[in-house]
Amino acid sequence: MEKIKVLVWNENIHEKKSESIRKIYPNGIHHAIASGLEKYDCFDIKTATLDMPSCGLDEETLNNTDVLIWWSHIGHSKIPDEIAERVKQRVLDGMGFIVLHSSHLCKPFVKLMGTCCRSKWRENDEKERIWVIEPSHPIAHNLPEYIELENEETYGERFEIPTPDELVFISWFSGGEVFRSGACWSRGLGKIFYFRPGHEAYPTYYRDDIRQVIANAVCWAKPSGGPRPTLGNVKVPYEKVALADHSDEYHP
Ligand code: ZN
Repeated sequence: MEKIKVLVWNENIHEKKSESIRKIYPNGIHHAIASGLEKYDCFDIKTATLDMPSCGLDEETLNNTDVLIWWSHIGHSKIPDEIAERVKQRVLDGMGFIVLHSSHLCKPFVKLMGTCCRSKWRENDEKERIWVIEPSHPIAHNLPEYIELENEETYGERFEIPTPDELVFISWFSGGEVFRSGACWSRGLGKIFYFRPGHEAYPTYYRDDIRQVIANAVCWAKPSGGPRPTLGNVKVPYEKVALADHSDEYHP
């Protein structure tokens, strides 16, 4: 079976700037996420970071990626618009896109959603309980009824996203908020999954249950291999019908 080509992309700024974050993720969040996928032999995993040429998101790399996993926070604006547009176009063309935690404000996700994608948030070491609300969904495979994270950053509704095609998880926080924490959309030929946990100050991406969600999401988001739709003017009908002469009419 052909392996799913996964690219784990991370801005990798907190880990370089902050001693306390570096202690949690000494090789960067991208390595923690990538190592969580390594136990599955169905993935061919690569990583890339903001400081690479073309932000590690050149055309050849993206064309060789089935599923892009993205983590960013303070570096959203450092992605040039043309690179964000390139990522968006690859998603429309079929690449899966997994958007983690604060990446809900990264340029390609905001472009794909068409809304501002903001929410409310608080850093207060509160408990997060992530409820699986669609147990039959492929992203819920092998999970318990809920995942409990003793300390996480709190996010709260309203989350300014378009209504998800499918909602797999809802989070509750001990401070009182709730949040749509696992949401799916399709855009063009591509599938998009937003997954909320993973604040840089907590070791969330080392947990088996969180890694299971990400692995499930990669399998779900891989290109479907379905037919590419025909778009535009189809001059020859699919059935035997007489051809009308509209050659002097203007059709944009
Ligand atoms: Zn955060």
